Amino acid sequence: MAAYDPENIFAKILRGEIPSTRVYEDDDSLAFMDIMPRSDGHLLVIPKTPCRNLLDATPAQLTAVMATVQKLANAVVRAFDADGVTVQQFNEAAGGQEVFHLHFHVLPRHEGVSMRPPGQMGDFDQIAEHAERIKAALA
Ligand code: 5GP
Repeated sequence: MAAYDPENIFAKILRGEIPSTRVYEDDDSLAFMDIMPRSDGHLLVIPKTPCRNLLDATPAQLTAVMATVQKLANAVVRAFDADGVTVQQFNEAAGGQEVFHLHFHVLPRHEGVSMRPPGQMGDFDQIAEHAERIKAALA
């Protein structure tokens, strides 16, 4: 497996070198909105320390991130009155991964509503409004 690349997009987001719409953070993890949301409220949870994915993460990194995934999954249910939540996580290019810093997708879901196709840029005002809803649900 390739080495961790500190110039990946999420590492730059962690360092504040490129903007993101943050909804939650603690000492070990960060949650921010996906810029190509496949459902309203689609967000990403990442560890603050480097690892490519599930294959090289430490148990401590996984524990920290999963606690935040659960917290945010419950928050999006409240924020969007969701019927369910899809959590996705991809490993290496062959596994569907495009950004090589461990991340979990958290997607609020409603009965009968399909996820949108990947790769479609979201509306920034709408993403910001969804982020505010999630933050309010966490408060
Ligand atoms: P994956 O690596 O799990 O296949 O997907 C990476 C995810 O990161 C995609 O859902 C994509 O929309 C999202 N993404 C890619 N670039 C950026 C970015 O610059 N900012 C944010 N917030 N999300 C991004």
